[in-house]
Amino acid sequence: MTESQQRSRPPGTLKIGEIGGVDVLVRSSWLVVAALIAFMLAPAIEAVEPGIGNGKYVAGVAFAVLLYLSVLLHEMSHALMAKRFGLPVRSITLHFLGGVTEIEGEPDTPAREFVVSVVGPITSIGVGVVFLLLHPVVPDGLLRLAVDALAGANLVVGVLNLVPGLPLDGGRVLRAAVWGITGNPHRGTIVAGWCGRVAAVLVFLFPLVQQPVTGRPAIPTDYILAFVIAFFLWSGATQAILSAQVRRRLPALRARQLARRALAVPHDLPLSEAVRQAQEAQAGSLVVLDVDGHVSGIVNEAAVLATPEDRRPWVAVSTVARTVEPGLQLDADIAGEPLIRAMQRTPASEYLLRERDGAIFGVLVTDDVDRAFAATT
Ligand SMILES: [Zn+2]
Repeated sequence: MTESQQRSRPPGTLKIGEIGGVDVLVRSSWLVVAALIAFMLAPAIEAVEPGIGNGKYVAGVAFAVLLYLSVLLHEMSHALMAKRFGLPVRSITLHFLGGVTEIEGEPDTPAREFVVSVVGPITSIGVGVVFLLLHPVVPDGLLRLAVDALAGANLVVGVLNLVPGLPLDGGRVLRAAVWGITGNPHRGTIVAGWCGRVAAVLVFLFPLVQQPVTGRPAIPTDYILAFVIAFFLWSGATQAILSAQVRRRLPALRARQLARRALAVPHDLPLSEAVRQAQEAQAGSLVVLDVDGHVSGIVNEAAVLATPEDRRPWVAVSTVARTVEPGLQLDADIAGEPLIRAMQRTPASEYLLRERDGAIFGVLVTDDVDRAFAATT
């Protein structure tokens, strides 16, 4: 592990391994949950294996590990499918409610989105069915208890993840469907996000109707568990809805439309004269030419304003310009998410916009982009 990888690891996680170039992380809270599972299972283990003694806790921990290995299989199926579609996978993190696969970007078609999300629940259900088939073959006792429990857990994980609300896999399946029908991925996210919120409310209210449904009255832990899961669902769904609302507004941001006309001036021109010429030419920005006549810098508006008027005749315009490094030069036709990503990669207050043939189109000012974004609804 290199130092940079160590730094990029989210706080509170342990790296337990790497599969196919994908880091496998475990949240430290998971250790508590593993201990809890071991503790809760101990009586059932002792019932089938009476002479086991304290070994029941060891068996319980082993079971918790097996349980999370099957969650890992579920997450790996998402990761492998995403990689097949050329999407880089950063990590798989196991946490107390299951796991999460961090994929960079997202599938570019609804069909791919559908496949990447549905493969997880299918894997869990498949693993559950395999353990179900093992039931008659394994001997009675501890082994059968483990096989039965793993069958049940995987089937529950697979089926519950198909509930059609974000952040569950079923929510992404629904998103893919709405995206496929309407052609609009953001509408898909918002529909699936609202279904996720409905699912959260239903989970929250479940303990109230638990007795008629399961025949067992709700105990305090049922309310706590319902609250924790409902909170997890609600916040995941809300996050998805908010990001869709932001991203839906992005395509309206077009560099070409937001650009300011740029006036090119020699690098040694006094700042006062450069500002005067820009005002006269009604240009909203200034670029600086080097001795060969190539654009070498973009004048920073804030730096101009910070220079007192009486000093401006005595400083060269190049002293308030930022050198045009590659990240500061954007295609004049860039728009929407690619524009925002390019600006995030190289944060700056001004960018140089070039035509495909290299000609200068103008200057894009970050404040103008922010204002335009705030004005879109
Ligand atoms: Zn999944």
